[in-house]
Amino acid sequence: MYRQLYFDYNATTPCDEKVLEAMLPFFKEDFGNASSSHHPYGWLAKNAIEEATESIAGSLGVSGDELIYTSGATESINMVIKGVCKAKKASGNHIITTKAEHKAVLDTCKELEKDGIEVTYLDVDRNGLIPIDHYEQAITDKTILIATLYANNETGVIQPLRELGELCGKHQILLFSDTTQALGKIPLAEVFESVDFACFSAHKLYGPKGVGMVYAREATTKEVFTSFIQGGGQQGGLRGGTLNTPGIIGLASATLLAQQLLEQDTGRMKSLRDRLEKGISSIELSTVNGKEAERLPNTSNISFQFVDGENLLRALSPYLAVSNGSACNSASVEPSHVLTAMGVARDMAYASLRFSLGRFTTEEHVDEAVDIVSREIAKQRENNILWVRR
Ligand code: PLP
Repeated sequence: MYRQLYFDYNATTPCDEKVLEAMLPFFKEDFGNASSSHHPYGWLAKNAIEEATESIAGSLGVSGDELIYTSGATESINMVIKGVCKAKKASGNHIITTKAEHKAVLDTCKELEKDGIEVTYLDVDRNGLIPIDHYEQAITDKTILIATLYANNETGVIQPLRELGELCGKHQILLFSDTTQALGKIPLAEVFESVDFACFSAHKLYGPKGVGMVYAREATTKEVFTSFIQGGGQQGGLRGGTLNTPGIIGLASATLLAQQLLEQDTGRMKSLRDRLEKGISSIELSTVNGKEAERLPNTSNISFQFVDGENLLRALSPYLAVSNGSACNSASVEPSHVLTAMGVARDMAYASLRFSLGRFTTEEHVDEAVDIVSREIAKQRENNILWVRR
């Protein structure tokens, strides 16, 4: 079977062989339930989870008590935002977020609006960034939470958090950052110094799908979260349900690997991403979105003039796995809300490709991708009367 060139690592990653190996015993002989406290099957699972938690905490430089396992970033986001609104009801009902968030944040906020939560959606500038004074001006005496994306999944643009953390501290507002795309791609010291909550997902990290976690700064964890999912009392009652032993082992193994390979992976991805952008820059009237901002080393979002975005993606699909918006909201036919929030014209937003590179991308893949895209755009433009007459 012909394999497409895979340039969609921000949508998901393959499970690393080492991660898979670490998980396998917990599907087979070590299948016990960590809540079974009366026999060795349960003890073994419980011990393995405790060790995994210590390993993740060590890799991230946090405490194991600050981690709550979930099914992935979407659940983690729901847990944090809804948890804060519930717990802080008496202090206020106002959240500040941005127009360039992942849908998991935007849709959670929309749902909460139905229950009387007020949400301010901040504009982003043409590089996808929000100046600190815009956050400050939006704060009211009812603001309980600021939720802001750290590394944008579509453009890779990184929103600095330090100053925002200080601002939140000054106003006693909780700060949550969606850090799903950042782990394994950039160091996270700034995140853990600045935020109260962050979220992660193993499948963005060469780990399995269906497992993730919330980081909740210890001091605020118990105060903020009551119980998100009831039943069984697991994880101190915060999220009931049998713990996903193989998934958690996989998450720990993937996190450790990511930390060990961070420097090497980051350097490789950046040089491949730069090679890709250099190659694509020979296509006339192409623009890298968010280019002037600090970006993830693996992500490049490029718009092309005089091209129909849908036709382009269809023509590329037999050869190249890329996306033109977030894969998580692929049911939508609207242009990317992230690009339109950055002021990219609708037709340019439609005609944009997100290339996201990863651990298994090679120079040959990049060169081939540049050739395929260049050829296809030239072909499409030949049939575009506006291009021909321009
Ligand atoms: N947040 C960001 C920035 C993402 O990129 C994604 C997935 O694309 C999510 C949240 C949702 O992650 P999950 O698939 O683990 O629910």
